[in-house]
Formats: sequence, C-alpha cells, structure tokens
Amino acid sequence: MHTQIGTVLVAVALAFPVWLAAQQPRADDDVHVLQVAPTIYMLVAGGNNVTLQVEPATRPPRVPGTYLGGYGVLLVDTVTADYSGKLLAAIRRISQAPIRYIINTSIDADHIGGNENLAKAPAGRGGRGGAAAIVLGHENLLLQLASPPAGQAKIPQAAMPTDAYLDVKEMWFNGESIQVIHQAAAHTDGDSIVYFRKSDVISAGDIFSTTTYPVIDTSRGGRMQGVIDGLNHILDLAVPETNAEGGTKIIPGHGRLSDEGDVLEYRNMTVIVRDRIQDMVKKGMTIAQVKAAKPTLDYDFRYGATTGPWTTEKFIETVYNELKATLPARPATTTKNKS
Ligand SMILES: [Zn+2]
Repeated sequence: MHTQIGTVLVAVALAFPVWLAAQQPRADDDVHVLQVAPTIYMLVAGGNNVTLQVEPATRPPRVPGTYLGGYGVLLVDTVTADYSGKLLAAIRRISQAPIRYIINTSIDADHIGGNENLAKAPAGRGGRGGAAAIVLGHENLLLQLASPPAGQAKIPQAAMPTDAYLDVKEMWFNGESIQVIHQAAAHTDGDSIVYFRKSDVISAGDIFSTTTYPVIDTSRGGRMQGVIDGLNHILDLAVPETNAEGGTKIIPGHGRLSDEGDVLEYRNMTVIVRDRIQDMVKKGMTIAQVKAAKPTLDYDFRYGATTGPWTTEKFIETVYNELKATLPARPATTTKNKS
C-alpha cells in the first residue's frame, strides 16, 4: 500500500516542472499567495484560483482633473463568498488601491461567489476611490445567470456581473494591455480567458485544470470540442522559453501554476481520450461497454475521481453523448425492414 502511494507521488512529482513544483501554494482553509509576475499574483482559496493584478511599483504622475481609472486592483474570479474576508486581507497585504475590476471566467459559484463582497470592498489605508468595482463577464454568462437551468436556484442580482462583452474585450489597466476573450461552448458557453500581455500571464478559467478532467457543463452549453478549441487557443497565445517549458505562465481555474508544456500535455490528454471514445462510438459500443473499456485508465491517477460532482464516469458519459450526437448514424445492422 505504502509503496503504491509512493510510486504515484513520485510519478506526479516528475511530471511537474521543477521551477513550478517548488513554489506551489497548498490547498487548505487559508488564502495562499504566489507572485507570478511583477504585478500579477495567484491567490489560492480552497482549491480555487484568483488572479490579482496590482499597480506597478512606479506609475506616471496623475494629471490633475483626469479620469482616476487606469490603475488599481483587478481580480479574475472571486471564489466562494466565505473566502471574501481572507481574500481581501491577502489583497491588502499587496495593494491598498481600490478594486476597480472583477472579471468572471465562468458562472460557477466558486468563481463568482465573492463578487458582491469584493466589488463593494473599500480601498485600503490611504487608498483613494470608493466606487463599486465593475464586474465583467461574457454576455452568455449574464444570460445564464438570468435564466438558470431547471432545478437550479437563480443567482442573486448583487452577485451578477454589471458589464457584459461579446467576443473580445480589450482593456488597458495598470500599465498593460489586457484581452478578455470568449471561449465559446467550452466548460460552459460563457467562459472567458484573460490574457495579460505585458506580464505574459493567462488566466484560463475552467478550460484548463491540473487536477480534474475538463468539467463540461452541458446544461449551460459546454462541449468537449469547445474545451479542446480553448486549450488550442491558449497554446496559440503562449510562448515557451525552451522546449515548451517556462515562458508564458498559465493560471488554471483550479490547480497549480502552469506553463505551455503543462497545457500541451493536458490538451493531448483531452484529444487522446476524445479519439478513444470516438473510435468506440464508431464501433457502435454502448455507454456501458465504453465505461468497461476504461478509455481514461492511464490518466485516472492524475485527473480521475470516483466521488464528488465530476466523476470520471460522468466525464466519459458526457464525451460519449456529445460524440454520439455529432457522428453520422451507423448504417442499420439488419437488412429487413419492419414496416
Ligand atoms: Zn471552476
């Protein structure tokens, strides 16, 4: 038993780039902070990630009478509301500036739950400005919030984004250009990735995870193919330092700080699993037969789950159903026509 666990741990450790493995925050009740770039931090709260962008150490002098915007605190996602106090304390250890922008990468409660608390949070000691932050999400996310799938509670108005965008939203904030980019029909149909161009950091939201198979919320328009497209898009944007390692840093929705090599590995996994299940669907296998064939077996030690909201079985079923619906129907196996 012990030997087995040891082997798995060694295998996991070897798969991580050394420069990243040494500095991963732990997951527990505290908010853990990892500096990713001079003005970008990754905050980890209960297994959920927040990206924090702050003012650069030096900024041009403010011209009297001009718009106060342009500098301050920007957050990507706010996790669940119960972490708001600890998150704000962690932010205030880094910046006293008011929170001006919150960007939501998806609709999930562990991405938008702290919106209200953090949008209304006052500036820190000596910080100026008290207006509520602008909360930004893709238009589909707002539509999903307004009309939740059957059986799911409506999200309170106060937690909802105040601003919507279509396709791409371009911003200039804290001295760098930021692109908020819609990833259609991926984890949901309202996902965004956030690209900090000068810092060379991408917040991937739930299109990329280092701890689970892609979570595909079909009730909100999510699709496996959209996740693969989203991962390919991140690979297009990311630039490696050497051999797909280092370079652009990628903050997943859940899990550890990553680089292009990690996303490449994850993208390859999704394509391999998709192709395996596709072959089985083409052979006319039933979902029970596909599950019995264990198309994810070699990845289960890393991404699999037998309990919780997103089990390996649920993932396989979701991919199976999507492929079955998209592949052309097989010719009938009998030649006799009943009618
Ligand atoms: Zn998530």
